[in-house]
Amino acid sequence: MNRGPQSPEGWIRPEIRALSAYHVPDPGKLIKLDAMENPYRWPDTLVDEWLGTLRAVELNRYPDPAAGPLTAQLKRSMQVPEGMQVVLGNGSDELIQMLALAVAEKDRVVLSPDPTFVMYRMIAAFAGMQYRSVPLADDFSLDVDTTLAAIDRHRPAIVFLAYPNNPTGTLFSAEGVEAVIRAAPGLVVVDEAYAPFTDATFMSRLGEFPNLLVLRTVSKMGLAGLRLGLLAGPAAWLGEIDKVRLPYNINVLTQASALFALQHQATLDEQTGWIRRDRAQLFAALDDLAGVQPYPSEANFILFRTPAGRADAVFDALRVQGVLIKNLSPAGGRLQDCLRVTVGTPQENAAFLAALRHSLDSAAEPSFTAR
Ligand SMILES: *Cc1c(COP(=O)(O)O)cnc(C)c1O
Repeated sequence: MNRGPQSPEGWIRPEIRALSAYHVPDPGKLIKLDAMENPYRWPDTLVDEWLGTLRAVELNRYPDPAAGPLTAQLKRSMQVPEGMQVVLGNGSDELIQMLALAVAEKDRVVLSPDPTFVMYRMIAAFAGMQYRSVPLADDFSLDVDTTLAAIDRHRPAIVFLAYPNNPTGTLFSAEGVEAVIRAAPGLVVVDEAYAPFTDATFMSRLGEFPNLLVLRTVSKMGLAGLRLGLLAGPAAWLGEIDKVRLPYNINVLTQASALFALQHQATLDEQTGWIRRDRAQLFAALDDLAGVQPYPSEANFILFRTPAGRADAVFDALRVQGVLIKNLSPAGGRLQDCLRVTVGTPQENAAFLAALRHSLDSAAEPSFTAR
């Protein structure tokens, strides 16, 4: 291998070269139930009204750097407590990156449960930090004692808790999360990406603890294409984190479109309400399927376990039948044999279930070629 002075091997950090790029499959014409997207479009009249507001947007000008009107609307929509500050990000992924950049030193630790959202681990690596994980219990609940012991040992700069958790769908106990917040020497970021699908939140408790921040996104409620996230918490922290934000990180089209969408929150709420209702039906159907074990979910997806050794075959058989979900089995550990399906429209859910029943039959015996 070329390790000369002008080669990537000579300059790209080893921890970056060791990563594999985040892979997003091309869905083609498949029914797309892999990425926690809201499957519903807006009524035509609303689309027309939205397009009308875009006429006033000046693409030749830089965006409002503070995104004033949008920030005010987000604070109302997401019920950010009085006196708390917010920073907006180009998706909540960018906010996770800003948090890491603001605290990064090479011996400092980012800590999360395992399994959880993979970007915490990846962004810790991007920022040159150490990453430590604490196994969840067998039912994917938070193992509070082990987590507190890990906090004591590693003294993490940031603890990320996805609440509800991705990819498991579980909602950790509020008491467990509170114990983590009290024990952590640094920041605890409660990532509420799935807030539209649960009644639980720590947003109303901001300010009660000096080290609690809450992360939200508009992605899972139906605006994934806009790329907009929000970090909320005490001004003392957010004023510092805002310094690593690139100017104009929220573009003019996102500012105008998100403001419009949030002013028509009832449409989004109606859609997320349908998803919550259909999640219960999908769970019941999966629970009735022999060989399949779904995990209770407070998010817009359901993780389920397939018969041992069959996950890859079931996943492939679903794709052949035109349904794309997420195969988590390659991640190994507690996720071995697990697949994750996003709750779609009733028609999409029915198509998925029909394909799954067929896949379980056809994948019932391992292929003789797969040794
Ligand atoms: C999807 C997801 C995000 C990312 O949200 P974006 O705002 O689209 O970047 C963050 N956290 C968790 C736990 C997620 O599942």
